[in-house]
Amino acid sequence: MVTSTTAPPARRPGAENLVRPVGALVDTVLGSRGCLFTFHRVAAPDRWETLPNRNFYLDLAFMDRLLGYLKRTGWSIVTIEEAMRRTRRGTAGDRFVNFSVDDCYRDTFEEVIPLFRRHGVPVTLFVTTGIPDGTLPMCWAGLEDTLLNNDRVVVRGETIAVPTSEAKRAAYDRIAAAWDQDTPELRYAEFCADNGVDADAMDRKHAISWDMLEAVRNDPLVEIGGHTVAHRRISSLSAAEAFAEIDGCRKRLQGRLGVAADHFAFPYGRSGDCGPRDFDIVREAGFKSGATTRKGLVRHGQDVFRLPRVTLGGAQRHLALAELHLTGVSGVAARVLGRV
Ligand SMILES: [Zn+2]
Repeated sequence: MVTSTTAPPARRPGAENLVRPVGALVDTVLGSRGCLFTFHRVAAPDRWETLPNRNFYLDLAFMDRLLGYLKRTGWSIVTIEEAMRRTRRGTAGDRFVNFSVDDCYRDTFEEVIPLFRRHGVPVTLFVTTGIPDGTLPMCWAGLEDTLLNNDRVVVRGETIAVPTSEAKRAAYDRIAAAWDQDTPELRYAEFCADNGVDADAMDRKHAISWDMLEAVRNDPLVEIGGHTVAHRRISSLSAAEAFAEIDGCRKRLQGRLGVAADHFAFPYGRSGDCGPRDFDIVREAGFKSGATTRKGLVRHGQDVFRLPRVTLGGAQRHLALAELHLTGVSGVAARVLGRV
């Protein structure tokens, strides 16, 4: 990686301009080129610096610059539905990008959608229905919020001082890694009890709500798709459980919002998280597509039940890096390095 998470957004005018012609050359052979980006949360630059789990957030100012850059350099920003149409057509020189938000938190409604509206371009929400339903505890957001707003926290009987942003980040990484090896919901419940955290209030503070989703369900710039009920790793489930997670979120979105919810994204989404059996289940549940987080570009002939997507994390604050994704270089590098 050439980025540093502590550096301010770099200004290297021109680096992206060096990469761009390579992609254009390949397009003359391979036809249309699509790049699907995914991310989770956003934060304004000053707040971003302080967040204990900041790699989970995109810098809102960078996102703004990226949308402007894409429009200036001839990319169409489209829904997944439109991306599928263009992939089938495969017209040479057609270049399109989709942005999807996975899980969906309150900032999706308060920050992400307004930004895309200002640019007049669509965004896809892959909703985990347990979030607006309040059945999925916001463990990671709650841990982060508690670290952010306290100078010391109690973890399994031990008091940890977290006076600085650096200490909060280090504590977040350590605690989250331990919870991940355990049962996060149980550890989080214990953490809330030890630190006087009202878990329900914390959920409401961070979750997207059905009211918010209702407010955008008819917006032509908002496409709503499914991201399971409880954010389970699909490959780890029995076929019946996997179907319930995949089909259940679609039925819930259709029933609660009256939207088609035709497209699906796998939680985690790497090769160990979803495989051929799971791609078939998504098709059987009636979805038109399924998206992973395996890096790569979408070309004519792409299997739409294993769509590649590029995850944008907090460290990605450079247009030149985005251009590597758009050209497909990052996908090739990931395959060479075995990071799929
Ligand atoms: Zn997710």
